Amino acid sequence: MRLKNVPGSKEYIAASNFVIHDETERKGKVREYFANDKPIQIEIGMGKGQFIYEMARQNPDINFVGIEKYSSVLLRAIQKMEEEPLPNLIFIRMDAEDITDVFDAGEIDKIYLNFSDPWPKDRHAKRRLESRQFLKRYETILKDAGFIEFKTDNNDLFDFALEEVEAAGWKMIAFTRDLHADKKLCEGNIMTEYEAKFSAMGNPINKYIIQKP
Ligand code: SAM
Repeated sequence: MRLKNVPGSKEYIAASNFVIHDETERKGKVREYFANDKPIQIEIGMGKGQFIYEMARQNPDINFVGIEKYSSVLLRAIQKMEEEPLPNLIFIRMDAEDITDVFDAGEIDKIYLNFSDPWPKDRHAKRRLESRQFLKRYETILKDAGFIEFKTDNNDLFDFALEEVEAAGWKMIAFTRDLHADKKLCEGNIMTEYEAKFSAMGNPINKYIIQKP
């Protein structure tokens, strides 16, 4: 999701209390912001934040962090928080490549990846958020036996992601090629914006749940 550049979005985000700031000294800031010991779950590439906002609303005993690279998209999530603030949700504008600079080792309980950009060219495989390079970063920040949940309608990306899980030695807990037809895995499912859009077009949704090795 890459909205056209929204003039003023960078300045708006810089002034927002719903965003963790300080590019250079972010480690430890998230726990400081929440000021409690509740588990932390993150969504990487949250887009406008529909999924993580609803997750936070339904789960007040979990802290949520939404991570998004582009200001123009993050802006929408901030505006939603301004309308109806939630104490257990915060955002960071960043490239997930730097994720180990932000979170301490073992700090994160669970990571959500929803409808990640597919980067279809082979030479860009390592930019995919499900690549073994990213799994390595996630392994660092996740607690022991922590989980990743990934959803996409893109079958090629899902095939790639399954190969990467095996190559990186993660444990497959569950997967489906048609989430909305899978009663067990779909229980309590919160739709993302892309999920609503693509499933309305008739695309089946793939999902895996994997556990840190
Ligand atoms: N998760 C949302 C959903 O399911 O509706 C948005 C999906 S959209 C296709 C992918 C989002 O991931 C975009 O907003 C994009 O800017 C963000 N993104 C892609 N690569 C990223 C990265 N390396 N770090 C942070 N965000 C990233």
